[in-house]
Amino acid sequence: MQMFNGKVVCPRCDGNGLIYQAKIVDVKLTVYICDECEASWISADIRKDNFQDLTTFLESNNLIYSKAQILDLGYEWKK
Ligand SMILES: [Zn+2]
Repeated sequence: MQMFNGKVVCPRCDGNGLIYQAKIVDVKLTVYICDECEASWISADIRKDNFQDLTTFLESNNLIYSKAQILDLGYEWKK
């Protein structure tokens, strides 16, 4: 995992985005989301080959992006 100022760099968009932790309130799931390309991970195992699109992830949980309650938990999740 590549780090920048204590934050995790997104492996999908090659350093453009940083990964923040978020809680999808509707389904009580914690996910990790890139602030640039919206790749998302359901675990802290952030790799280029295991992300899904946030929209796709939400849809697979019967949620719509514009209506989902997504709580931003910040970038400081990786200790
Ligand atoms: Zn990204």
